[in-house]
Amino acid sequence: MEHGTVILRANWILPISGDPIADGEIVVQNGQIVEVRPRSDAAGNGVIDFGDAILMPGLINGHCHLEYTALRGLDDRTPFFDWIRALVELKAQCPAELWLPSALLGAAELIASGVTFVSDNTDSGVSAEVLARAGLRGRVYQEVFGIEAQPDDAAILRELSAKLDALRATLARYEATERITLGVSPHAIYTVRDSLMRAVRQYAREEGLPLSIHAAESSEEVALARSGSGSFAEMFAARKINYLHPRTPPIEYLHNAGILASDVQIVHATRAEPREMEMMARSGVSVAHCPRSNARLLTGIAPVYAMRRLGIPVVLGTDSAVSAGSLDLWEELRFAALAQRAASYSAQPSWRDWISMLTLDGAKAFGVDTQVGSLEVGKRADIVAVRTHRLAFSSMPDPYAALVLVARSEDVALTMVEGRILYRDGKFMGLDVEAARRSLSELLAQHK
Ligand SMILES: [Zn+2]
Repeated sequence: MEHGTVILRANWILPISGDPIADGEIVVQNGQIVEVRPRSDAAGNGVIDFGDAILMPGLINGHCHLEYTALRGLDDRTPFFDWIRALVELKAQCPAELWLPSALLGAAELIASGVTFVSDNTDSGVSAEVLARAGLRGRVYQEVFGIEAQPDDAAILRELSAKLDALRATLARYEATERITLGVSPHAIYTVRDSLMRAVRQYAREEGLPLSIHAAESSEEVALARSGSGSFAEMFAARKINYLHPRTPPIEYLHNAGILASDVQIVHATRAEPREMEMMARSGVSVAHCPRSNARLLTGIAPVYAMRRLGIPVVLGTDSAVSAGSLDLWEELRFAALAQRAASYSAQPSWRDWISMLTLDGAKAFGVDTQVGSLEVGKRADIVAVRTHRLAFSSMPDPYAALVLVARSEDVALTMVEGRILYRDGKFMGLDVEAARRSLSELLAQHK
């Protein structure tokens, strides 16, 4: 066996781009997949035989806020408006040094769940360093807010540009510019005024940066956009903010304002109306679906079945640990698949479709499918192994159904990004999780 070669072997291989292979192995060299084949008799140090397990591409978490991980459980309000107000107040009280260890612990939770690519929206900007240090692949969207009259759009854009420069410098320092790309997230229509939304769109277009926007998430947001009424409108009136509501639902507004394009990710779209879905399909946007967050915050169930029928790419995301409770993408997957069945009375998407959304479809939505998303020769070796030892896996003939209905983070035996093992059998390689945990509890103790 050639030096530096690793062979991963298991009872099942799910290439995603093709049918499952029983009893197979993946040959990895220099971070690349060089062969996917039936089990050979190769032996030696470089062979890792997982036995009863499924080898598959690393999971793609399509939407997250890693920096809020440490705030989990500190805020359990509903409905959505009360929840987000409480989060804003909580954030304001947190020391700036909190975000880095908080996000590092979130990244660890993702890696232990088999995630190899994460799309993260960040206010503090720590995500770039965290993803780079953790060895993850991903997209970092720098958040933008601006609903009060001051600072003006030009000042906010100058600040955004400086923040992006800092993120670029961080990625360069960690030699992670290939693995991690940048974008901009004008947060939502109730936190970003119309002129700023348009200015950010223009800026992102000039800079070649993709956008991520939370839209059509809650009934409060829809009421604000349609009729200038409800909790958000009352808050703006109390704070003397002059909000000109567009008199259309949120996604229709974004469409009419020329914001939507194929480089835009809409987060949630739980309240998307049929006409808005047609606008989304025409403009080529993708959707990040975060069903546990939506359920927890009483914002409903996104019309995934209808969106997919229109050809809108849908990826799964955990959203933050504050709203979802955990960053276990398997929990998200199971909840998503079952809630859609319950809501749509349809067996579509199929189990296989859901696993595709978590891997190859996700990679396509982020434009990285030539590199990752499936187990194919020439692609980067972003691979996970899921053990199928537990009783609940027995007599499950379909590996896709087994993954959707049974798998959880604790079953993940290996997480590999570009041939580098980040996690194996409960141990993190490289990421000092205990140090992050210690600095976090020290900070929290100081700020009690
Ligand atoms: Zn979010």
